[in-house]
Amino acid sequence: MIHLHHVSKHYGQHPALQDVTLAIGKGEFVWLTGPSGAGKTTLLRLLFGAERPTEGQIVIQGRNISKLSARQIPPLRRTMGLISHELTLLPQKTVFDNVALPLIVRGVGKRDIAQKVVVVMRATGIERHRDRQPGALSAGERQRVCIARAIVNDPLILLADEPTGALDTGLSLEIMALLRTIQIRGTTVL
Ligand code: ADP
Ligand code: MG
Repeated sequence: MIHLHHVSKHYGQHPALQDVTLAIGKGEFVWLTGPSGAGKTTLLRLLFGAERPTEGQIVIQGRNISKLSARQIPPLRRTMGLISHELTLLPQKTVFDNVALPLIVRGVGKRDIAQKVVVVMRATGIERHRDRQPGALSAGERQRVCIARAIVNDPLILLADEPTGALDTGLSLEIMALLRTIQIRGTTVL
């Protein structure tokens, strides 16, 4: 599903990743750990096509993404869900609208959106918050909304950058359990 061959990423002279080779199979649940500055976010951004490697090859589902043109990046991203601190929820929109956003962007019809969003809100346990705004939710509930938004497109790969970073131990375990259920349904989770 994901192959990295001798991937390096430099920002100017600064090495963020050096000679990374790894393979992740379909449906795997992979933990990437390391101290702050180790390059975890950089690796996820490379996989998402937000950065290009300085050296090496990244192959996702048999496609060398280092060679994709700007036009080919959006279709690649549609096969992935991303949870990151930089992707915040829209504060003026309801939970429903936040989760629906990736579908609206894709031009999915209203009825299909309503159906899909309800299923995903149920799966992530946020159904009762559908008409509330993110500011009225707890940190754990907000993270569930971010996860719902990341999986509403049925991604093959879910990239979660420190998904439990801002949560206490109990909530972290809940979120990990939720990510597990997503993996069990067939999504590769990193
Ligand atoms: P982690 O997520 O593991 O904390 P990062 O991938 O964010 O680590 O960062 C890895 C290294 O790359 C760090 O030394 C960081 O300063 C550097 N870095 C990350 N992004 C940039 C950038 N846009 N420009 C310059 N240096 C960066
Ligand atoms: Mg990081």
